[in-house]
Amino acid sequence: MIFSNILHVCLLLASAARSAPFSPAVETDYDAIVVGGGPAGLAATSGLARVRRNVLLIDSGEYRNDPTRHAHDVLGFDGVTPAWLRFAARQQVSDYGTVSLVNGTVTEIQPQNNNTFFKVLAEYPGNKSVSFTTRKVVLATGMRDILPSTTGIAENWGKGIYWCPWCDGHEHADQDLGILARLDSAVTSVREILTLNTDIILFVNGTDTPANRNITEGKFPGWEKYLTLLNVKIENRTLASINRLRDGATPYADPSLPTHPEHDLFQVEFADNQNPILRNAFFADFPSEQKSKVGENAGVQLYGNKLAADGAGGLVTNVPGIFAIGDANSDNVTNVPHAFFSGKRTAVFLHVQIERENSVAQIAAVGKRNVQNNDLQTLWRRMNEPDDVTFAGHTFDMLS
Ligand SMILES: Cc1cc2nc3c(=O)[nH]c(=O)nc-3n(C[C@H](O)[C@H](O)[C@H](O)COP(=O)(O)OP(=O)(O)OC[C@H]3O[C@@H](n4cnc5c(N)ncnc54)[C@H](O)[C@@H]3O)c2cc1C
Repeated sequence: MIFSNILHVCLLLASAARSAPFSPAVETDYDAIVVGGGPAGLAATSGLARVRRNVLLIDSGEYRNDPTRHAHDVLGFDGVTPAWLRFAARQQVSDYGTVSLVNGTVTEIQPQNNNTFFKVLAEYPGNKSVSFTTRKVVLATGMRDILPSTTGIAENWGKGIYWCPWCDGHEHADQDLGILARLDSAVTSVREILTLNTDIILFVNGTDTPANRNITEGKFPGWEKYLTLLNVKIENRTLASINRLRDGATPYADPSLPTHPEHDLFQVEFADNQNPILRNAFFADFPSEQKSKVGENAGVQLYGNKLAADGAGGLVTNVPGIFAIGDANSDNVTNVPHAFFSGKRTAVFLHVQIERENSVAQIAAVGKRNVQNNDLQTLWRRMNEPDDVTFAGHTFDMLS
């Protein structure tokens, strides 16, 4: 009997010794929950899948570039529809065994036990409430464009009225262009678009005032001479509507080629009902806001209207364990290549960080010592050590 008890204890110890090196610091449903399934969230999920992290991606499916005809300047995919790009990415990512992609909306993120893990609450279609635990959270929640109420802008957004030269400028090159923006921003936008268009009118919608002229002079000294030189006109009348006269969509164009001219035609009407103006396309500058408040509600600080993320810490926010990527973060870069890059960046840091935490707990377990709060703080500071695989240079410390 005594012999059998001793044997049992020995077997238990041997089994503990075998499993200890692999036991995580905290047991949770997932290593990471990614909130948002646009290009940023999909890239983070891919990076985590490649190292067999157990990941859940929850996506409410309202993508920023949904209205546009084609996604451009995405190497290897230049000119595909945004939906095709996401489909191809989802298909590839879901081939990895440790990943789940679901439709739903994350409603709350609750940090637990000094941020060692999080509880994530979500609504699935059909009013089904769910909750999961996770070691880390990746916010890939994107931005929402705040479009003016002028008739015709929201209706034609992404289809002849576009927001960035790299996205859709080439398709409207050498056409008669309008710029829709406040005076100061319209003037600086001219410099961005000149290699594509030279017949340009600025539709500044009543913002050509003495005060705004001063602001513009501060931003761009000599701007009036510059506009005269380029023969760019300012139209200050209040906009009433932008009406489509022709659709420039190219559904029958060769899909193997990245770009085809899009010959849209619009008529701009003004509040005074006089002299409408024809334009083929518009380059616009409108404000935007966070698509979701879940990050902010969990304590993530904003930098301007973006989720403040530390580039040297894998885009971690001020809340250790919560990362922010893609359009929503404070890199202030809003395009698909950045969404991919930032997702990958966080995936690498997050993966290494989890294993750092595991190693501290595993070593402590062998020495029978509890992991203290300050051990965890030190660990988060170590995310950017010079000899580490994740070292990204020295920047500001968001955790102090
Ligand atoms: C009209 C237009 C055209 C564009 N064209 C181009 C282009 O040609 N090339 C280019 O490089 N860039 C283009 N862009 C920019 C590009 O769309 C963005 O940079 C890119 O979509 C950012 O990806 P993201 O994953 O950060 O955000 P998004 O693609 O916006 O994805 C965010 C996702 O998170 C989801 N979400 C938000 N909150 C929650 C929540 N609480 N729970 C679950 N899910 C949530 C949203 O529903 C959405 O599905 C364009 C933008 C616009 C507006």
